[in-house]
Parts: sequence; C-alpha cells; structure tokens
Amino acid sequence: MMLVSACLAGIDCAWDGKDRLAPRIKHMVEKGLAVAVCPEVLGGRPIPRTRTEIRGGSGGNVLDGMAKVFDENSKDVTKEFLIGAHKALDIVEKHNIKKAILKSRSPSCGCDEIYDGSFQGRLVRGDGVTAALLKRKGVSCQNI
Ligand code: SF4
Repeated sequence: MMLVSACLAGIDCAWDGKDRLAPRIKHMVEKGLAVAVCPEVLGGRPIPRTRTEIRGGSGGNVLDGMAKVFDENSKDVTKEFLIGAHKALDIVEKHNIKKAILKSRSPSCGCDEIYDGSFQGRLVRGDGVTAALLKRKGVSCQNI
C-alpha cells in the first residue's frame, strides 16, 4: 500500500478547487493499491482556498517550531498544516505504508523543493510539512 496526494488521484482539492490529475495515480487508487490523502483539507483548510507558502525555512523547520506557513494574505495557517500532517501520518501508520507519491512543490506535499515564501515563484531546497513528517518516520517520498 502506498500514500498518494489526493489531487494527483483526480480529486478536486487543490487550492484553486481543481485536481492535478496523474492518471497512473488515479488508477492505483481505483485498484486499491494506494490511499489518497489531502493533508491541507485534513487540517481544516477549505476548497478552494488561498495559496500558502512556508516562510523562514522548510517543512522540517515548521515541525520544529522554527518556521511558519502563511497564506497570500499573510494569515498564519501553521496550525492547520501541522494537524493535516499528523492526520496523514496516522493514516500511514494505520496501513503500515512505507512509500508515498506526492505532488511537487506543495507546502504540504512537496519533497526536496518548495516555494520560498515570497509568492514570487522562487524555489528553494526543502520539503513541505507533511512530506517532512513522513520522511522523519521513515516513509520514502517521491514527487511527481
Ligand atoms: S495538500 Fe497535497 S494533496 Fe492536497 S491539494 Fe495540496 S498537493 Fe494536493
């Protein structure tokens, strides 16, 4: 069993109310080979919603209380991101999942590369909040 970003499975849960369909991911979910999760929605964020980026570091820094997640109106949404990440981890542990395929560059799901918090489209090295938590728990994360 694998964890996948729900937007990749064709669920309309991205910030703009649309999906980010990757047909092979949707197929995996339909075959029962993957569980689709949207950490931001699990954390209580609405659909559609404002865009968000991590300021002052990466997802690991957010987990450690050293950085925060803000939306494009400078509203602090860190708490929702932490709740969503821990709910995603609960699902991972329940299903004994060791691998995740997640949406790239997301402040939740991004692995190795995220936006820098300026909302100017600039990328920096680092993980989203959920990806960072899953990696800490030994889950292998891959982005598409
Ligand atoms: S939080 Fe993850 S699953 Fe949800 S819309 Fe963003 S990238 Fe997709």
